[in-house]
Amino acid sequence: MRIDIVTIFPEYFAALDISLLGKARRTGLLDVHVHDLRDWTHDRHRTVDDTPYGGGPGMVMKPDPWGEALDTIAPPSTAPCAATGGRSGAVPRLIIPTPSGRPFTQELAARYAAEPWLLFACGRYEGIDSRVVDEARTRMPVDEVSLGDFVLAGGEVAVLVMIEAVGRLLPGVLGNADSVSDDSFAPGAMESLLEGPVYTKPQVWRERPVPDVLLSGHHGEIARWRRDEALRRTAKHRPDLLVHLARGGLDDRDRAV
Ligand code: SAM
Repeated sequence: MRIDIVTIFPEYFAALDISLLGKARRTGLLDVHVHDLRDWTHDRHRTVDDTPYGGGPGMVMKPDPWGEALDTIAPPSTAPCAATGGRSGAVPRLIIPTPSGRPFTQELAARYAAEPWLLFACGRYEGIDSRVVDEARTRMPVDEVSLGDFVLAGGEVAVLVMIEAVGRLLPGVLGNADSVSDDSFAPGAMESLLEGPVYTKPQVWRERPVPDVLLSGHHGEIARWRRDEALRRTAKHRPDLLVHLARGGLDDRDRAV
């Protein structure tokens, strides 16, 4: 997968050299290009922001450097392009983190993991001039995506989160691919569930023993216990998710939990 990131703080993305994603880059599973938005400015101060039309506090990111950056990374094609309906050619999916976007979920991460090329645009200040998004939509698929109901100082951390969630789903990135299917929110049995508690050695720690069932060697009972715990934890922390389970995903034992 190719990933391009445009930011005014390229240093943030040093984290992509570490751990699983660093290894994925070194082995060629992830091809990451980080670009400094200021490389597409033309004034002495390398200005990327200006005051908002209509007044109000804060600054807005200017469209000019963003337009040039996107044109350079994903040049407008004269050839037809399928990504925007009825046209063809290699274009990235442009992902713009913003609190006013659609929620980022495990399902969206899985969809992005199937894409060959993602382009992330990190906003700062009050965000990016809206015409950049409108214009980009005419030539590539564009998603505005929110990490949650809170406001960060910039898009960099949001993009790191998305890249990590997507990157670990790429075939070959995780040592044990099965661990993805046991995760909270994983498609299938865990789709609308949070994972329950997990334990490792020693068997007793500070007078707290590991639950007996996990030592029983009985795979059926262990699976049932894990599901019960996942249901309990989901009911406690995310009761909103249980609505999705209720639509045909519950057996009689689940209902008893
Ligand atoms: N004025 C914007 C608003 O109220 O929606 C907030 C701008 S925020 C200070 C600056 C940048 O941080 C945004 O352009 C976006 O890139 C990023 N950001 C902040 N919160 C975010 C969130 N919850 N999800 C994704 N990106 C976020």
